[in-house]
Amino acid sequence: MLRVRIFLCEGCGTAHADPEEPPRCCACGRASLTELDGRDGAAAYFSPSRDAT
Ligand SMILES: [Zn+2]
Repeated sequence: MLRVRIFLCEGCGTAHADPEEPPRCCACGRASLTELDGRDGAAAYFSPSRDAT
């Protein structure tokens, strides 16, 4: 079963939904992506109550 994980670009904040970590950000090309916690990463990222810097 393929599970989609969420990777957040530390450079521009773009979220990537992928089963595997992308080699780089598709928006700015930065190579450091942070995987959000699989437990509720997507919900946390897309929640309006969370204002990540
Ligand atoms: Zn980026």
